[in-house]
Amino acid sequence: MVARLIDGKQVALQVTEEVKREVAGLKVKPCLDVVLVGDNPASQTYVRMKTKKAEELGIVSHSHVLPSTTTQQELEQLIKKLNSSRDVHGILVQLPLPKHLNEQKIISLISPEKDVDGFHPVNMGKLLRGEKGLLPCTPNGVMSLLDSTGVSLEGKHAVVIGRSNIVGKPTAVLLLSKNCTVTVCHSKSKLEEHCPRADILVAAIGKAKMIGASLIKQGAIVIDVGTNKGADGKLVGDVDFDAVKSKASFITPVPGGVGPMTVAFLMRNTLEACKAQLAK
Ligand code: NDP
Repeated sequence: MVARLIDGKQVALQVTEEVKREVAGLKVKPCLDVVLVGDNPASQTYVRMKTKKAEELGIVSHSHVLPSTTTQQELEQLIKKLNSSRDVHGILVQLPLPKHLNEQKIISLISPEKDVDGFHPVNMGKLLRGEKGLLPCTPNGVMSLLDSTGVSLEGKHAVVIGRSNIVGKPTAVLLLSKNCTVTVCHSKSKLEEHCPRADILVAAIGKAKMIGASLIKQGAIVIDVGTNKGADGKLVGDVDFDAVKSKASFITPVPGGVGPMTVAFLMRNTLEACKAQLAK
């Protein structure tokens, strides 16, 4: 068996085309403000990608680029200003922040209704309780990729490797909400025991090609969230794609899998945040 490729670019395009259509029909254009502190090159690239995509879809975007010497108080002041601006519907603070800044405090300061990353404790709490809120973009993207396979998730055993607040944990909760039986693995887990039992395997670890074929059940759906620099400097996932593709039924490539979905759902969240604020 050779796995079918889950084309993240194509699925993301469907999401963004729908966003674009909806945005075109709105009287007020959604507005996304992105805050970047410092000069981390990867963060600069992510911010450029996000603002470019927003503009393509008719979403207004502003970048606030602050020096790495920005104080907690200065950053908090900016967030408060954006919170109170009626013209701003979505606020995204690009992570990681420089070490001297309190990231959790900043995230918690963003108004939950403008928290388009879905990282605010209120939105995370809603996710856990199964209430409507802004969902974190990468986990939402993972679910959409699974949906695109047309395979029913109900009753399937899903193994999520990684328990971060931004990927692993929320992905596990979303899988549970779709009636999967979920196992969450981390650095102390016995992967060789859990992974080969997974009908659905989501890798969100941050270790290049760590997941080989011996950890994959025949016919499993494999979603690779990992983005790592390979030996040749190219982007590689957490899954050893070439080894696993002959065992899985579906697999995401890196790049071109989960990555485009994250940006697409950021755009959808900005639209949803805007609509909710206009309806008030
Ligand atoms: P974190 O570093 O926050 O979390 C990594 C998780 O992997 C932790 O729970 C850790 O366990 C676990 N882990 C580490 N080593 C092992 C191991 N040997 N065996 C099993 N589990 C292990 O990373 P993130 O969740 O933020 O990101 C994960 C990956 O996804 C990264 O490559 C990141 O770049 C990528 N990413 C991609 C996105 C995209 O849009 N494509 C978006 C966000 C992230 P423990 O908790 O015990 O330390």
